Amino acid sequence: MDKISIIVPCYNEEESIPLFYKEISKIIKKMKNVTFELLFVNDGSTDNSLKEMKKLSEEENYIKYISFSRNFGKEAAMMAGLENASGDYVAIMDVDLQDPPSKIEEMYKIIKNNPDIDCVGLKTNSHDDYGFIRRIFTNLFYKIISKMSKALMVPGARDFRLMNRLMVDAIISCKECNRYSKGLFGYVGFNTKWLTYKAPERKAGKSTWNFFKLCAYAIDGILAFTTAPLTIAAFIGIIFCLLSIIAIIIIIIRTLIFGDPVAGWPSLVCIMFFLSGIQLFCAGISGAYLSKTYTEVKRRPLYIIKEENIKK
Ligand code: UDP
Ligand code: MG
Repeated sequence: MDKISIIVPCYNEEESIPLFYKEISKIIKKMKNVTFELLFVNDGSTDNSLKEMKKLSEEENYIKYISFSRNFGKEAAMMAGLENASGDYVAIMDVDLQDPPSKIEEMYKIIKNNPDIDCVGLKTNSHDDYGFIRRIFTNLFYKIISKMSKALMVPGARDFRLMNRLMVDAIISCKECNRYSKGLFGYVGFNTKWLTYKAPERKAGKSTWNFFKLCAYAIDGILAFTTAPLTIAAFIGIIFCLLSIIAIIIIIIRTLIFGDPVAGWPSLVCIMFFLSGIQLFCAGISGAYLSKTYTEVKRRPLYIIKEENIKK
């Protein structure tokens, strides 16, 4: 019998956990031809999330939990889940019921009946529910990243997906600390079938994302999956060198013909400001990559476990 592990990262989700369990347990009971492992990852919640998980794990054997020593972020929580999941197939789901548990059945059927499919993912049909500004920036991000990077990132793709063991092991083998799953899922390759659906609203609690966090997340994605900005910075440098050579030639010729009527002080200041801006911008780009390299070479653990009930 196949075993499906369901990884559920939770950060301050005491309200959502019981609601989520109520829904998922219906599916688990319904799918009699598979066994399940429900793996909650408590990402340093400050509320009673861990208590809720413990309570559930006492009720049912198949419910496991991992609890971090502090909040390490959803990426770390997903990795902890993947590394500790024992199923033949592994799913990642949000606890807020924006990823409908009922889809698991359909996803499993597809992956089981098509040996060439390694992963079934869910994506929203567009970003209709986003506000105007967020939609513009989101579309811009996917346009930029698809031009710059080889890792395929699918617009609207959620983290909710069911993967086979091969793909899970491939993702675990990517050991970087600056993790960006949206890119990693694409980077490892394999065949993904996409199901389109409309994401419902969060059932309880509130999202931890805001505009600035999303922007930082987008920049992380670019830094993690392409070095194109460094090339662009170098390219801008070359363009400005060429422009200045042309300007120098023009000025020399003009001075030889018209003499030197000390003019153009304001324009000089503007040009200086502009160029130092460009220089700082390019230095900033290099710095961003350097800082990622720095955190990467430190090789600190992605997460630290304080408590768990996974008997290996
Ligand atoms: N989450 C987490 N660690 C964090 C932030 C979020 O494990 O630092 C979990 C959260 O509990 C939820 C999932 O990641 O199960 C998605 O979070 P959220 O609903 O805030 O994101 P959104 O659905 O808005 O993308
Ligand atoms: Mg959510």
